Amino acid sequence: MRILISGASVAGPSLAYWLARRGFSPTVVEIAPGLRGGGYAVDFRSEAHLAILARMGVLDDLRAVETGGSPMRFVDTAGAERFALPPEFTGGELEVLRSDLARVLHERTRADCEYVFGDTITSLTETEEGVEVAFAASAPRTFDLVIGADGLHSNVRRLAFGPESEHVTHLGYHLARWTVPGAEPVGRVSVAYNEPGRMISVSDGERGVDAFAVFASGILAYDRRDLAAQKRLVADALDGMGWRAAELVAALDGADELYCDSISRADVPAWSRGRIALAGDAAHGATVGGMGTGSAVVGAYVLAGELAAAGGDHRTAFTAYEKELRDFATLCQEGGENAGAFLAPATAERLAERDAMMRSPEFAAMMLEAGLERAGGIDLKDYGPC
Ligand SMILES: Cc1cc2nc3c(=O)[nH]c(=O)nc-3n(C[C@H](O)[C@H](O)[C@H](O)COP(=O)(O)OP(=O)(O)OC[C@H]3O[C@@H](n4cnc5c(N)ncnc54)[C@H](O)[C@@H]3O)c2cc1C
Repeated sequence: MRILISGASVAGPSLAYWLARRGFSPTVVEIAPGLRGGGYAVDFRSEAHLAILARMGVLDDLRAVETGGSPMRFVDTAGAERFALPPEFTGGELEVLRSDLARVLHERTRADCEYVFGDTITSLTETEEGVEVAFAASAPRTFDLVIGADGLHSNVRRLAFGPESEHVTHLGYHLARWTVPGAEPVGRVSVAYNEPGRMISVSDGERGVDAFAVFASGILAYDRRDLAAQKRLVADALDGMGWRAAELVAALDGADELYCDSISRADVPAWSRGRIALAGDAAHGATVGGMGTGSAVVGAYVLAGELAAAGGDHRTAFTAYEKELRDFATLCQEGGENAGAFLAPATAERLAERDAMMRSPEFAAMMLEAGLERAGGIDLKDYGPC
């Protein structure tokens, strides 16, 4: 069976790996001209996550590039510490740069899977026999199945399931990340400063020091391709903040890249329609705090396993995939529900409350434990050898 996967980040290549191992023929189409760089760290934090990576044969490669996590210090205007989170809080049991993860997964799969970079699906037409797919750059092709693994703002979901507004819930915050050339490295730590409804932090990134900001906001209308407009929007949101904010915001002017997005959650009532299904963030993403990376690799294992178990019958397989994964993925997503409010509490009272709670080692340990429980909340089915 020929299976087209849209997206070559985490869910796409993971799914391609399992599909190829189970005798299917995957093709991955990625809109970026090559593997995307871009530097934030993602983490794995449970036996379930690590077991899948080990079964895929990538755990050692990832251990070789793990960042080790870093503590997060929250400071006041003068730089004095208000509280600190231990490295495992943000870094889990294995933390790697998302770009390293995508590279390792691509290396593991490229010999057995077809990759098409710099292209995107423009239309999907389902027939009795398959899905006719039109692309922006390549000639049309027909596949037996199509899987959208193209992230929270999924193209496949928009084409096959309807507009994003019906499937993505805004959680009241935006985030932004950019590089600050020439800034003094901060070492293995991330330092964050809050004012009500706003947070700005610095940490060492791939290309120098990175600034990362989170701010409370309704849905913002802007053109994703208009860098200048996004810079203005972020600068306005952070205007007048104390600590190092002015210096960090000033660096926005010269930034050639800015990652800016809403903090949102995918809410998709059914993950498949006919021969088309969703995986990873496209189906069950939450921008931050939702353990989307671990869920993406677990989901890929389950989806390919169910397709093999059903002998390629997509109706049976897609139903079983969702039944097996939905509760687990939803629970993980719930961890991201309050990520914005945790990082940038909306009022001075809530900020003080959060700080007081986080100074309690018992409370921090409880939060960590709750995350671990969510991340491990699935009994991995055995789909047999492959
Ligand atoms: C700032 C930030 C910090 C995060 N931190 C963590 C963390 O600590 N732990 C964690 O578990 N998760 C974290 N996440 C979430 C994590 O990045 C995602 O859950 C994970 O990457 C999901 O993988 P995915 O493959 O489903 O989607 P994505 O990683 O979003 O990849 C989607 C891919 O599809 C491609 N694509 C998009 N449109 C098209 C198109 N039209 N055609 C073809 N391809 C397309 C994209 O270029 C991309 O390669 C964080 C996210 C952000 C934004």
